[in-house]
Amino acid sequence: MTFSQMNLDTQVLRAVQTAGYTEPTPIQAQAIPVVLAGSDVFGCAQTGTGKTAAFALPILTKLAQTKPRRGSATALILAPTRELASQIADSFRVYGKGLRVTTTVVYGGVSINRQHQEIRRGVDVIVATPGRLIDLLDQRMVSLDRVNTLVLDEADRMMDMGFLPQIKRILKVLPENRQTLFFSATVPQEIQKLAASMLTEPVHISVDPPSSAKVSIKQQRYRVARDQKRELLAHLLEIDGPESALVFTRTKHGADKVAKDLQRRGITADALHGNKSQAAREKALNGFKKGRTRVLVATDIAARGIDVRQLPYVVNFDVPENAETYVHRIGRTGRAGLEGTAVMLCSTDEESDVRAIERLIAESIEVVNEHPFALAQVELPKNPALQQGVGFKKGNASGHRSRGRGGFRRRA
Ligand code: AMP
Repeated sequence: MTFSQMNLDTQVLRAVQTAGYTEPTPIQAQAIPVVLAGSDVFGCAQTGTGKTAAFALPILTKLAQTKPRRGSATALILAPTRELASQIADSFRVYGKGLRVTTTVVYGGVSINRQHQEIRRGVDVIVATPGRLIDLLDQRMVSLDRVNTLVLDEADRMMDMGFLPQIKRILKVLPENRQTLFFSATVPQEIQKLAASMLTEPVHISVDPPSSAKVSIKQQRYRVARDQKRELLAHLLEIDGPESALVFTRTKHGADKVAKDLQRRGITADALHGNKSQAAREKALNGFKKGRTRVLVATDIAARGIDVRQLPYVVNFDVPENAETYVHRIGRTGRAGLEGTAVMLCSTDEESDVRAIERLIAESIEVVNEHPFALAQVELPKNPALQQGVGFKKGNASGHRSRGRGGFRRRA
């Protein structure tokens, strides 16, 4: 089915053409007709599958058809992070260009009064993170009693971030008679329970199950000592030469350290994490999106929802402890059918996490042995402390660990 066969509003169709989309992605092909028909949806899909347009295009079409009286919002989109909320709002504005539909985004960390003023002027679509929406509700700055469409995006991440109580509170003030679209990348039991409590006879749509990494992503793994990861990263950026790269670290401090190290080496880089002010986060993200910054180093939560088209290169600087996080991370590349590379820098103590990932994705990740920092090239006799068996000098911890755990075996 093509976009033009989908009964979308003509302005919406024009915006889709302007965006350069030639055909619907699988989630769009399945969800758009269902949403237009008014059914609830339980969608299992990751960010990167074209999910935003899958709900935004039919919602905008319905808004265009019903020509709402400008006043309180009729569509509410809940998203876990500020970045994702901003991106969804931007998408509504892009796809709704030419329609008399206003969209506003509300999230914490910035002035609530400005958001209140926008809402007072009249909005059709509110995109919100749960915490700030509750603040607005508590202060009677927003009314949700005309909402007839609710989207819960990245429901699993919302649960991970502890938003369940807020979601329940928001649900209480929404009209019962509404259409609900529920999206989650993974479907653990608590997500099924939440979905069951919110949805009425939903149509189930599933694309790209989270346990299967996308085929267009080349996955590679480099075994390296922890203290040589930064050098290896710089080396890979040089030899693979990606135009831009998203690098994931486990900690905020780690993100700062890696970004600073790259800057020292003359590579434009910035860090994105929750300790930065909203203005600094937006600056980092914009610099990256506009191509001024080549490398963005981010923690998982901060990176959630980063939507950069054609992201060619993702680096797992630290192996994620949670295997599903790996699938989320590499989902940032190879989007909408484009090719991407996901590399993982893996120290000896992270091997067990790698095995959990490989079990989840049901494949083994190719190991690249030929690189200047390969563990196998660390030679024991060069370290006098180790030779004498009296401990090891600071900075050589990885060599020590490697010997203790797996030896200096040459890797095939
Ligand atoms: P999302 O999953 O909504 O974050 O979308 C991922 C990316 O795919 C975004 O950069 C969209 O602009 C892009 N996209 C969405 N739908 C299409 C489509 N039908 N064709 C090509 N790109 C698309």
